Amino acid sequence: MIEGTVLVRGGHVIDPANGVDGQFDVLIRNGIIDQVGAVEPAVDVPEFDATGCLVTPGWIDVHVHLRDPGFPEKETMETGTAAAAAGGFTAIACMPNTRPALDSPEIIADLLKRADDAGRIRVFPIATITRGRSGDEPVDFDAVIAAGAIGWSDDGDTTANSAIMRQALEASVRLDRPVIVHCEDKALASGAMHEGDVSRRLGIPGIPAVAEEIIIGRDLMLAELTGGWLHVCHVSTGRGAELLAEAKRRGVNVTAEVMPHHLAMSDEWVGGSRTLHNTNRPAGQPGEPADPYTKVNPPLRPVADTRALLERIQDGTFDCFGTDHAPHAAPEKSGSKYEAAAMGLSGLEFAFPLTLALAEAEHFSVYDMVRLWTVEPARILREERGSLSIGAPADIAVFDPDREWMVTPDELSTKSANTPLLGMTMKGRAVFTLVDGKERHRA
Ligand SMILES: [Zn+2]
Repeated sequence: MIEGTVLVRGGHVIDPANGVDGQFDVLIRNGIIDQVGAVEPAVDVPEFDATGCLVTPGWIDVHVHLRDPGFPEKETMETGTAAAAAGGFTAIACMPNTRPALDSPEIIADLLKRADDAGRIRVFPIATITRGRSGDEPVDFDAVIAAGAIGWSDDGDTTANSAIMRQALEASVRLDRPVIVHCEDKALASGAMHEGDVSRRLGIPGIPAVAEEIIIGRDLMLAELTGGWLHVCHVSTGRGAELLAEAKRRGVNVTAEVMPHHLAMSDEWVGGSRTLHNTNRPAGQPGEPADPYTKVNPPLRPVADTRALLERIQDGTFDCFGTDHAPHAAPEKSGSKYEAAAMGLSGLEFAFPLTLALAEAEHFSVYDMVRLWTVEPARILREERGSLSIGAPADIAVFDPDREWMVTPDELSTKSANTPLLGMTMKGRAVFTLVDGKERHRA
């Protein structure tokens, strides 16, 4: 067990914050990055052989549902942070749609304490925008930030009340923290999958793309009105991304995330396809038509949208990746009718293999992949992290890009293996994760 001092030898080091990309050793002493370069072996330092591996700053996920407090059958602080470390993540921001919701300084402080007690990775709570996520009464915006929240979100739902959204964005000007929005016009979104050819073929009620795009448009206008910082979650449609690109060109204070499942999977997966779109990976075995494990919100979109989103990574419209890790216990997914199944996919342990497959298909470079999972999400958190700078806390991930593994519940650290990737072979896995130089995962 590594406890703060280790030499990570011979890996391909990518550290976009410092423009580093090459074969180097990384020496960690007492939890701090001490040296990046060709390091002479020292007798007193244990070594980790990273030959053939990618060595990067620990990955940061801005969008995780830990389900804690309140839903231990889905995930807990323990299992969620273990899944994060197993995916190469050393820091996550957790969403407040818990029971109780993260809507007060006391609940935020309690979560931070329990994350500390779990002692695995860094956890940055996001507070709600409205009390109990009810949508009708704002939280004390200042108090929850003072307690340690990194922003506000009613994720899972849109805050329908535009006046409250305006207030939240005004608080964001004052406090320089993001209002993190899940964009969904509820009245249009009673369906269970993307509304289009596949939903009509399967006879499943659909959710039109405009249900998302209408709210992205509204929130961009409110951000422009107030000058507040809007962070748009899990953008899933080409037109939604186009709205963002246009707003960014005009100088609106907006950031946005895109999820691997919206890039590599499409609504055809609901119909049984298991083609990892936009990658060179062989397809998996066909799944059951209308497999509840393909149900997610926003829904998997047509292939044309997955391509449009990839182009928006190239042009800088998206600021970072995120997983939207959304564990659900098996009874809420399997066996139930598609319409009745819970929405959400397990994500933390698939971030590396899915984005690596997209990078290998040259939609973006491996360097940009690392950038969008490290230093860029750190900026959203307003944290000086996501780098291998000398003197920085040694939060590090080592990935073996060639390791093949079969997705089974036993292979995963999360409590909930709700993913349509079950039974498929992934290529690429985190093999060594360090937080403050301390070993948090080894495979
Ligand atoms: Zn959401």
